[in-house]
Amino acid sequence: MTIRADDSKHTARPRREALLNRPARARAREKADLLIVNANELVTLSANNQRPRTGKHLLELGVVRDGALVIKDGRIAAVGKTHEITRAYKSENIVSANGKTVLPGFVDSHTHLVFAGTREDEFLLRVEGASKQEILDRGGGLLRIVKETRRANVEKLVEKATETLNSMLEHGTTTVEAKSGYGLTTKDEMKILEAIQRLNQMHPVDLIPTFLGANAIPLEYANEPEDFVDLIVDEMIPKAADKGHAEFCDVSCERDAFNMDQSRRILTAGKNLGLKPKVHADESTPSGGAELAASVGAASADHVLFSSGEGLKAMAEKGIVATLLPASAFSLMTGRFPDARTMINLGVPIALGTDFSPNCWVENLQLVIAFACHFMRLNPAEAITAATINAAHAVNRAGEVGSLEVGKKADILVLDVPNHNFLGYRFSVNLVEKVIKNGRLVVDKEAAESEYRLLEEQET
Ligand SMILES: [Zn+2]
Repeated sequence: MTIRADDSKHTARPRREALLNRPARARAREKADLLIVNANELVTLSANNQRPRTGKHLLELGVVRDGALVIKDGRIAAVGKTHEITRAYKSENIVSANGKTVLPGFVDSHTHLVFAGTREDEFLLRVEGASKQEILDRGGGLLRIVKETRRANVEKLVEKATETLNSMLEHGTTTVEAKSGYGLTTKDEMKILEAIQRLNQMHPVDLIPTFLGANAIPLEYANEPEDFVDLIVDEMIPKAADKGHAEFCDVSCERDAFNMDQSRRILTAGKNLGLKPKVHADESTPSGGAELAASVGAASADHVLFSSGEGLKAMAEKGIVATLLPASAFSLMTGRFPDARTMINLGVPIALGTDFSPNCWVENLQLVIAFACHFMRLNPAEAITAATINAAHAVNRAGEVGSLEVGKKADILVLDVPNHNFLGYRFSVNLVEKVIKNGRLVVDKEAAESEYRLLEEQET
């Protein structure tokens, strides 16, 4: 519990002389921009956040019962019990979270946010059991999205991604990592990074840009993949690193994409220009992705569905986050999910993400948490930690978001459920009632519902 204001007066009743000697302003309650009070559970995730959490620390949610929180200038100014907070602070804007659960905003640490086109017809083929190769032979796959994305202008990409971000925000996601990767030419990759930059400026959700020019080998380089790696290293990465277009450099280290040597070359080139490495690792085969992530000191290795025991041990030693994407594994329809329990036992820090993409159209991290509980047997507390503070670590934002601690951004959710175990237990509906982003109430389902009730009453 942290209370910034002087709380000595709460511990004992002051004697009359002491009260008389005390300057008047010391007794006045400090004014806040917004107070959240009476939360049945205030899930703070405070303490032990210098490094991504591992093992039993994943279970430590730091729940305050009858909790309250103070917001000033877009930041969290104090956290504590309601009776302590309301003695020290006042505000004209008070949110009652009576019977509800308050959480930090979710951090979606792996998305392919910006693209044009859809792949629902391929979904039908997948349901019927078609292989990746059969889909490619019929002109589908990732490269069809590349074709459509190349045709789209920045404005169209921004417009489409805005709809996605609105939906993500309504479901409680307040920070999103967004990758390029559907352009695969220098011009089109930069166009996607520009779209991400514009979205970050105009949308309440904070975006973290990742350059993923090495998402796939485009048709025109099918016979000369090394030439495409040269293009990425010599032209795309310097441009992506210039003017802070990207913070991370990602690579798809897979049998049908980039091999170990090519991946290492790309990540090293990025690292030399200040882009922190990330790896799409071992998604469909054991491809050495986990080992690569450990050896280049990546911020995270993502998917890790087929990673070797050695690779996972190396990740644990280096403290590399494994970003698990159970909705993506679900969409593959193979029935295989990342072995989260082994990772936790080995001491690998885990995070969760949606892997939102044209092939895995999921905007809702609550569902990802439910999948993590059902298919990977995570405790809801572990899954919540993975979708908040550990996901923040995976995108280098743990000092800013991912927990409810004094000084951090006021990115806060009010869930209309009495405790955090409902995340996982009650799934497929949106449990988020309110979203506060940078201290501003940006989603309020309760207000929308009362307006709806009012309309109904007027009509009858
Ligand atoms: Zn991905």
